[in-house]
Amino acid sequence: MATKDKKISTRVIWQCGYCDDIAISYSTLRHDMNFCDCGKSALDLEEDYSRTIGEVKYLSVKDCIEKSNEHGDKYRVWQKSE
Ligand SMILES: [Zn+2]
Repeated sequence: MATKDKKISTRVIWQCGYCDDIAISYSTLRHDMNFCDCGKSALDLEEDYSRTIGEVKYLSVKDCIEKSNEHGDKYRVWQKSE
């Protein structure tokens, strides 16, 4: 049986261009604007799109992938988003 990788969620680490605060956003948190310390920048990350306010600098974008091994056990890894 062929195993298929399944994308669970996306994680973005970003930094505000004004106050240099670093925040982490997850696509699994729906309709959740993630604001930085100064409140000028925000990231709303969804499954299919992302919306930014202010100056959001992306530091790291990774996808959580669910894989299964030859025994059918499922496990999750974080890998760089393409
Ligand atoms: Zn800020």
